[in-house]
Amino acid sequence: MDSDLVVRLTREMVRMRSVNPPGDERPVAEYLATEARQSGLEAELQELDVGRSNCVVRLPGGDAPALVFTGHLDVVPPGEQAWEHDPFGADLADGRVYGRGSADMKGGVAAILAAMIGLRSTGFHPAGDVVLAATAGEEAGLYGARAMVDRASLQGAGYLVVAEPSDLNVFVAEKGVLWMDVHYYGRTAHGSMPWLGVNAVSAMARLIPVLEAYPFRFEESPILGKPTLSVNVIGGGNKTNVVPDHCRIVLDMRTVPTQDHAVLIDEVRRQAEAVARASNQEIRVDITVDQNDRSVETNPEEPLVQAMAASVRAVTGQEPRIEGVTYATDAAVLAPGFKIPMVICGPGAPGMAHQPDEWVAVEQLTQAAEAYADLARRLPGPAETSR
Ligand SMILES: [Zn+2]
Repeated sequence: MDSDLVVRLTREMVRMRSVNPPGDERPVAEYLATEARQSGLEAELQELDVGRSNCVVRLPGGDAPALVFTGHLDVVPPGEQAWEHDPFGADLADGRVYGRGSADMKGGVAAILAAMIGLRSTGFHPAGDVVLAATAGEEAGLYGARAMVDRASLQGAGYLVVAEPSDLNVFVAEKGVLWMDVHYYGRTAHGSMPWLGVNAVSAMARLIPVLEAYPFRFEESPILGKPTLSVNVIGGGNKTNVVPDHCRIVLDMRTVPTQDHAVLIDEVRRQAEAVARASNQEIRVDITVDQNDRSVETNPEEPLVQAMAASVRAVTGQEPRIEGVTYATDAAVLAPGFKIPMVICGPGAPGMAHQPDEWVAVEQLTQAAEAYADLARRLPGPAETSR
């Protein structure tokens, strides 16, 4: 594998400031399309909004299910902490590429494209298409991936590989995401006569411990363990001498595969209404759901998992760990959207994401590109699967 190519692709993309918010992924998407076409691959831009695009690159193959690699083009802001390396300088030092998005995850996207260019240059004709689905807006709401599902962009997909940083381990499950706003509405009154008002803040204060202690039903997942609930935002009241008529909390629930989100939303609503009623009959409850993506999980025995692990082993000489992650990736949308199994496997350390002086090792970039190319040759084609 040409390590110069994957390093050049990574560095050039890191220099493009696709910081989300607002995103500005379009220049990166155009860059990918240009590089892909120059190497004889097909590429298509999907316009989503001003300055925001997905990019789908294709190495056409036969009629077998397509192997889809995915990565996002947006990055989180550099943050408040000072960096030693310019976040958008893409410094190459100590065998590493430094910069925001080097690990999360322009390095992964570069490795996918380098693998596809490598396959194309050897004249390899895959059993099914090999696809790079590069998305906008992953860092806020999985926006680009949702557009890919809405537009049926990956029809014929059979396998999904997410190139998020995993140190080339193979992650086979991710927790679901359920984010909810719970509002209590009461009535204001002068602070000296609280009996004339309905205090939304004090009622909400009673709800929080109830939700934290509530026995939501689940079966523990062998890979993901237990679900979590965390109250991460609270707001209400604005003046010392005014009884607050509104309070809001935001819940961050991370779920496991046996949990039905509709049931969870219903349970939160029932608890919120019961506590409100017990505080004051007049309190009105309103709940809005901000993000709602179920947990996804691939059986470790699936051919995709086995093949990905074998490719990593072949390239690195090491046995990858097979495990789950607590956060959601674009797979939360793409795997159920196209009804395909997924794995997460990419260059860079998972703990490096969103950190100052983020970096990815050149060696892992090259190994990732080699492992992806190996996977495209290794996955069962139609002849093998029909046996
Ligand atoms: Zn990421």
